[in-house]
Amino acid sequence: MAADTSTHADILISEVGPRDGLQSVKAIMPTPDKFRWIDALVAAGVREIEVASFVPARLLPQMADAAEVVRYAIRHPGVTVMALVPNLRGAEAALRAGAQKLTLPVSASREHSLANVRKTSEDMVEEVRAIAKLRDELAPGVRLEAGISTAFGCTLQGVVPEDDVIRLAAMCVAAGADESGLSDTVGYANPAQVRRLFRRLRAEVGQHAGAAHMHNTRGLGLANCLAAWEEGVRTFDSSLGGLGGCPYAPGASGNVVTEDLVFMFEAMGVRTGIDLEKIMAARVPLSAGLPGEPLYGMTPDAGLPKGYTQR
Ligand code: ZN
Repeated sequence: MAADTSTHADILISEVGPRDGLQSVKAIMPTPDKFRWIDALVAAGVREIEVASFVPARLLPQMADAAEVVRYAIRHPGVTVMALVPNLRGAEAALRAGAQKLTLPVSASREHSLANVRKTSEDMVEEVRAIAKLRDELAPGVRLEAGISTAFGCTLQGVVPEDDVIRLAAMCVAAGADESGLSDTVGYANPAQVRRLFRRLRAEVGQHAGAAHMHNTRGLGLANCLAAWEEGVRTFDSSLGGLGGCPYAPGASGNVVTEDLVFMFEAMGVRTGIDLEKIMAARVPLSAGLPGEPLYGMTPDAGLPKGYTQR
C-alpha cells in the first residue's frame, strides 16, 4: 500500500532481481555489471529496487559487494534503494551504506525460520523492534518492512496456518515495522488464498499492509498478483527475467517476471510508470553480467501484441 500514486503511476513495482534473483543463482555477477543493470532498470522507470542483501559474504558471495552497490544505487534520484537485512548487524551495515528502505524476512513457518535464520518467529519480531530503534537513531526517514515469508505454505512445514501469518504480521507492525507484506517464498499460493490473506491483513493492520511478493514456481505468479491487486494491494515485488530459482523445485522459475507483470497491468490500463520496451532492453545488461543464465518471460519471448501502444 506504499505505492506513490501522486505522479504517473497507479501501482509500485519493486524490482527484487539484484537481491532475490541473484541470491538464487550460482554465478557471481561482477559489481560493474550490477551497476549497468541497475542503470537500465532506472532508465525504464523502475522506482524501487531491492539491490542487495546484507548477509555475511561467506554465506552469500554474490552479496559481498552489498554496501558498494547501495552506495552506487542511491546516486539515482527518485529511486528508493532497498536492502534485505536478516538481523540488526545487517541493518546497521545497510543503514550506514545509505539504504533508503529495509526489508526483514520474518518466517511464519517455525521450521523455516529455524532453518533459515536459526531463530524462532518470535525472536525475529524482537529483531524488528531492535532494528526499528536503530533506524530511529541513525536514519529516521528509512522505511522498515517485515516480509512475512512462507505466508502461503512451506516446503519444510507444509501448511502454514493463516492465523499464524496474520498474528505475526500484526506483531511486526506493533514492534515498529512500517509495513508487513506477504511472501509466497516457495510458490505455493493460489489466487483465492491470496485474496483471503490480504483481506485479513488489511483488516488487521490497515495502511501498514505491504507488498505482495510472489514466486512463479507453479505458474500462478501473475494470477496471484492480480488477486492481490483486486484486494487493494498496490506494491508488487518481481524480478527481471524471473531471475532465480527455487532449490526445492529444479527447473522452476523464480519471482514473478517483471516484464510480464508490467505488460499485464499496462494492458489493463493500470499505470506502472515503467516503459515496456525499455524494461525488456534491461535484459541485455543482466545477461551480460550473467552469461548463460536462463531468463524467463512470456512477453519478452512473444513480443508485444500488434497495434499495442503503451499509454
Ligand atoms: Zn522471494
